Amino acid sequence: MHAVPRVTAQPLRGDGRLSSIRILQTVGGVVAAVFAIAFGLVLLLVISDDDGGGGGGAELTAGSLKVGKNGVPAAYAGLIQKAADDCKAGLPAGVLAAQLQQESGFQADPGVSEAGALGIAQFMPGTWYGKDGHKGAGVDGNKDGRKDPLDPEDAIPAQGRMMCKLLATAKKHPEYSGSPIELALAGYNAGWGRVEQYRGVPPASFAKGQTYNYVKIIMGNVARLTGPDGKLSTSGWTRPADGPLGTPYHQRGGSWSSGMHTGIDFTVPTGTPVKAAGPGTVQTAGKGGAYGNQVVIRHQDGTYSQYAHLSRISVSAGQHVKGGRKIGLSGATGNVTGPHLHFEIRTGPEYGSDIDPAAFLRKHGVKL
Ligand SMILES: [Zn+2]
Repeated sequence: MHAVPRVTAQPLRGDGRLSSIRILQTVGGVVAAVFAIAFGLVLLLVISDDDGGGGGGAELTAGSLKVGKNGVPAAYAGLIQKAADDCKAGLPAGVLAAQLQQESGFQADPGVSEAGALGIAQFMPGTWYGKDGHKGAGVDGNKDGRKDPLDPEDAIPAQGRMMCKLLATAKKHPEYSGSPIELALAGYNAGWGRVEQYRGVPPASFAKGQTYNYVKIIMGNVARLTGPDGKLSTSGWTRPADGPLGTPYHQRGGSWSSGMHTGIDFTVPTGTPVKAAGPGTVQTAGKGGAYGNQVVIRHQDGTYSQYAHLSRISVSAGQHVKGGRKIGLSGATGNVTGPHLHFEIRTGPEYGSDIDPAAFLRKHGVKL
């Protein structure tokens, strides 16, 4: 009865003229096309009738971006996707989108900032036009003969180029604390010199936490702006141990200090390989009180996963891991009645910020 429109947008490459428009997908009867032309790109939205499920809401994607209300404005999605695709260092479009949201709220001209920054990507004039013999980062993305920081068709490609360079540099420094994307964001905000100075994302004590919070907020928003087929939200997530589920999340009981279970248990004997549930950076690896030997991994969307009661740990803090990478062996260290893997998903690195790990894993495509 209640038909929910399903909308798919995909930027088309090439010369970007209307003649290159193709209808990519038509499902059902009602088809409407909406065109957005920006930067020689044509964004094609195919709206089709989908009778599956009632009231789930329209789902829009452009490449790997979530487009529309609460997502990326359709007018900029193609530009952002192209800027990400042009980067050979592996720059997720969702990161550029979250950055624009944080910089300007996706406004082409939010007014000159206190610091003097301009436009949707908040370039400082010196950075854009160049100073002290340094070449400017500004580009003429739409080839209209001007490099204009207030024109998103120039500013977004320039943002992508700058982030791409920073990301390539960051990847040469695995010894710095923070993932390469986080380091690149910190470099964009504070200058790469600060990242070098702190050998990582500058701490909260630097510049009243401005850079620290900038990175944290953007990383926390990436998942929301990334579509279901986006690289960050679906790839590389896995069950952390091959064994049946035991004690569920939020089961009540006297053996937990909070009065309820803050994670899920996998019932596995001591010595079972424990794997990183998803890609990230090892936050801590070592003794964790009642949790025994534990590993905490920070993920790109700002969440953390915790693996407790391990008999053996095979990673160390600061190490980048892919989803499925072995991080240790299960065991019965700490406060336990028997061997198992205790697994949590948290919104922060510490105890007490837990969310439902089973729901989280399922959302990332993991069958439990
Ligand atoms: Zn447990």
